[in-house]
Amino acid sequence: MIISKQPTINYFIPCPIVRSIIMTEKIPQHMHCQICGKAITASDTETMCSDECKQRYQKLTKRRKVWVYIMYALIFVMIAVLFLAPYLGK
Ligand SMILES: [Zn+2]
Repeated sequence: MIISKQPTINYFIPCPIVRSIIMTEKIPQHMHCQICGKAITASDTETMCSDECKQRYQKLTKRRKVWVYIMYALIFVMIAVLFLAPYLGK
């Protein structure tokens, strides 16, 4: 059995930069990758750490768009059924 010698605070703070802040009490400007949560240097243009994460983000947004269209289609169908239901029974 392996017993970790790391302090328990490391398990609750996944970001190495935030962890280092607690240790040194300095706050460097940084942010986190929107996909994997990795700490990256603060920038106005970059919100992701790597091209891999950018591709994953693009895939995610595409899939999300498809689901939004599906939801709209379902809502349209339901409203159409509600309006047409009285006429279908006759
Ligand atoms: Zn990332």
